[in-house]
Amino acid sequence: MTDPRDHLLSWLKDAHAAEEQAVTMLSKLAGRIENYPELKARIEQHVDETRRQSTRVEECLVKLGSDSSALKDAGTKLMGLGQGLSGIFTSDEVAKGVLASYAFEHMEIASYRMLIAAAKQVGEPEVQRVCEEILQEEVAMAKWLEDNLDSITQKFFAREATEATAKH
Ligand code: MG
Ligand code: FE
Repeated sequence: MTDPRDHLLSWLKDAHAAEEQAVTMLSKLAGRIENYPELKARIEQHVDETRRQSTRVEECLVKLGSDSSALKDAGTKLMGLGQGLSGIFTSDEVAKGVLASYAFEHMEIASYRMLIAAAKQVGEPEVQRVCEEILQEEVAMAKWLEDNLDSITQKFFAREATEATAKH
């Protein structure tokens, strides 16, 4: 049987890789958004949060005895955002970006919920607390996207209609 602490460590490494990937992808997405200032601002806010999350997860790993230099080349094996956001620079890139971000936040929510349970299981209250705090930020981001999916889609269609009219 694998030591439960090794699972906690391995899941934290995955979470760290996901945060690093999120910083890259969300920065790129925010940089591409011109006509949705609230969406752009919210994503930029989450990029800042994500940077701090990455650092905090790294601190947890160090605390658990992981070699932090090994994290630098941990790679990005996590599903989702990379695939979801690559090649989205099409006419509906905003819609595709919101879709991929919404899915990614929920992957993070599941990941941190499991990390909280794992940290509880092996008796690492500090790791548990960090993951609980990060979870709140992921939930808030997912909620914001959920609350704004309709209006962003409506605005997208309105802009499409205007551009079509302007061309003809
Ligand atoms: Mg995150
Ligand atoms: Fe997130």
